[in-house]
Amino acid sequence: MSSALDHAMIDKIAAEFDDELIGMRRDIHRHPDLAGEERRTSALVAERLRAAGLAVATGVGGHGVVAVLDGPGEGPTVAYRADMDAVDDDELFECAFASQVPGAAHLCGHDLHTTVGVGIAMVLARLRKRLNGRVVFVFQPAEETCEGARAMIEDGVLERTAPQEIYALHCGPLPVGTFAVGPGQPGQDRFRIELAGPGAADEAKRLVAMIDGWSTVGRPQTPGQLQQLMDDTQTPDGPLARFVYALSHASSGEDGVRVHAYLRAWPDDRYPEIRDEVQRRVDAIPGARVQFTEQPFPAMVSSPDLSAAAATYLRGALNEDAVTVLHAAYPFNGDDFAYFLHQVPGAMFYLGVANPDAGINGLPHSPDFAADEHAIGIGVRAMAGFLSHRLDALA
Ligand SMILES: [Zn+2]
Repeated sequence: MSSALDHAMIDKIAAEFDDELIGMRRDIHRHPDLAGEERRTSALVAERLRAAGLAVATGVGGHGVVAVLDGPGEGPTVAYRADMDAVDDDELFECAFASQVPGAAHLCGHDLHTTVGVGIAMVLARLRKRLNGRVVFVFQPAEETCEGARAMIEDGVLERTAPQEIYALHCGPLPVGTFAVGPGQPGQDRFRIELAGPGAADEAKRLVAMIDGWSTVGRPQTPGQLQQLMDDTQTPDGPLARFVYALSHASSGEDGVRVHAYLRAWPDDRYPEIRDEVQRRVDAIPGARVQFTEQPFPAMVSSPDLSAAAATYLRGALNEDAVTVLHAAYPFNGDDFAYFLHQVPGAMFYLGVANPDAGINGLPHSPDFAADEHAIGIGVRAMAGFLSHRLDALA
């Protein structure tokens, strides 16, 4: 058995790549690819991984890239997943490497996730003689449309690589240099109610009021409310232990009135109750009918044990204060990493990218989202160390 990688060893190698990785992230940021169109990003990723000596497969579940790095002997397999696509919106934050594609911008930090993934591969490739097994890198397309993870799984990525554990990072509004570990992100459900007849508009108003009335949490409108919400995610059995966020509106057309509803609930067991309630209400209205999406999109739930293992590792690698432990999900984002975690034990960790003194909010999907680039090197070092640590633990 080879010996575990220590932080000093990882830091020495990672330092050689810091500038190159920041350059790569800026390049991806300038040239964002929307979901399903990740040709440029995936080609760049594949090229860097091949140059680092990994075995690379492309075109997995769309523009997905899968790369394998083997240590010298037999051993367990762990996987790291990064998503590559941009958001279909424009960015407000001004920077020298702003998006050159109108209507597309990396407002969810996937440019950082991708760059960190490549960086981990580059560092571990240099240290492969000390790896106690195999690390699989999964670069996923189409996260923003919640399609890419499922497409890669249906294309056989998990069967072919058989990871025992899978991990991912997501940018979060925590101070750069810190991480958060914890529960996950909610799923979502959507449905549409069709109403006809003279009373349709009034019925629709009542239904909208009923659905919106299920919300136990509202979107933060001020920095103070956002801070309160972040504090609530760190409170055991607090206001976010169970929540519903519901948003509906009515639209009228020639054939009647429609109510469109969107819900996020935590945990997932709320959805069947809500669907039953909607069905009962609609059945009581003559001529009304409801159409649900096939299945609610599942919540992404990180393994508590593996999150705790990460907290212990990261406190040792960074410092005692570097890890925030979450006890509840942030209500307004979801991630299709959910599908991977339904098949393989693992966890998503939050990489702090905020730097308020520099005007960097680190809040994914806000129009003025920005991320501190120092987070790239921090994420690379932490995850290179943690993945090799997990191989040692599983061996
Ligand atoms: Zn995202």
